[in-house]
Amino acid sequence: MNFQELIASPHKRLNPLLQEWVLVSPQRTQRPWQGEVGKPSEPSSVTYDPNCYLCPGNKRAGGVQTPRYTETYVFDNDFPALLPDGDSQHCDEEGLLVAERERGICRVLCFSPRHDLTIPRMSARELRGVVDAWTEQFSALAQISWIRHVEIFENRGELMGASNPHPHCQIWANATLPNLPARESKSLRDYAVEKRLCLLCDYLQVELQRGERVVCQNEAFAVVVPFWAIWPFETLVLSKRHVGSLDHLQGGERDLLGDVLRRITIRYDNLFETAFPYSMGFHQRPTDGEAHEEWHLHAHYFPPLLRSATVRKFMVGYELLGTPQRDLTPESAAARLIEAGETHYLDRAPL
Ligand SMILES: [Zn+2]
Ligand SMILES: [Zn+2]
Ligand SMILES: [Zn+2]
Repeated sequence: MNFQELIASPHKRLNPLLQEWVLVSPQRTQRPWQGEVGKPSEPSSVTYDPNCYLCPGNKRAGGVQTPRYTETYVFDNDFPALLPDGDSQHCDEEGLLVAERERGICRVLCFSPRHDLTIPRMSARELRGVVDAWTEQFSALAQISWIRHVEIFENRGELMGASNPHPHCQIWANATLPNLPARESKSLRDYAVEKRLCLLCDYLQVELQRGERVVCQNEAFAVVVPFWAIWPFETLVLSKRHVGSLDHLQGGERDLLGDVLRRITIRYDNLFETAFPYSMGFHQRPTDGEAHEEWHLHAHYFPPLLRSATVRKFMVGYELLGTPQRDLTPESAAARLIEAGETHYLDRAPL
């Protein structure tokens, strides 16, 4: 059986970054659906909301006033998940009740003073400001001796649990590697030791040669629906140059990162003509003082929507108990995203 025949029938695909499998069932896309129908997420129509604690000049829940900022704005989360203080502590009862103290710093970064200005609608200059702010935060946090990992991530939309529609991201920096970056780190290291090459540089070459899962690209970045994607319209943003972190990008590459993020998020919004919800985040080299030459900067987009602005994928049943599974193939998802175009649906001239 050849490759094309194999992936036309039920099969599983390996995620080499996490060393785990995903089931793909291409024959099931026609099955009837009677599940949840939510309400589509409309983009905010006001540039300033007096009740939004992230809008300039407003009071936050802790009583702090958000300053009248004019570009990006970063602050320590008023209700952080992790705290920076304390010594390391380790408890182990019978090898089964094991716990460790985890120190961390949690920040919030507003992309713009405008309540309604999301990444897909930002100008090149505004996007560069966001990329620069991410880079500055990564560099500053990486320099703190006990910080070994910096996670920059955005939850967009109520479906993903975003508590405030004002465009912002979070930055969690902590003392140990989180689960997924730790697994990716091992895979990247093992591949580098075995082949003396980079797993993601090699993977990008395969995708660029084949083309069918490449959604968009510029000189410095490419966006692909990974071969092993779990979420219906999951994508992976890869730097074309082998760099481990945002602070190793050159000026022009920072502009091109903004460009590619704008283009993929326009495609997402266009797909179902909605403010497309997702969780996205960067994976970068650990900041433990080692060089980590094996690391390759990338970003993951994990969007929950499946077939319309209101029907989402749930990770339940077999996926929760066994292996994640998808019906829409990554190749079909890529074709849909390619077709979605790069003129935002709200900017299209009326017919
Ligand atoms: Zn706001
Ligand atoms: Zn690489
Ligand atoms: Zn990753």
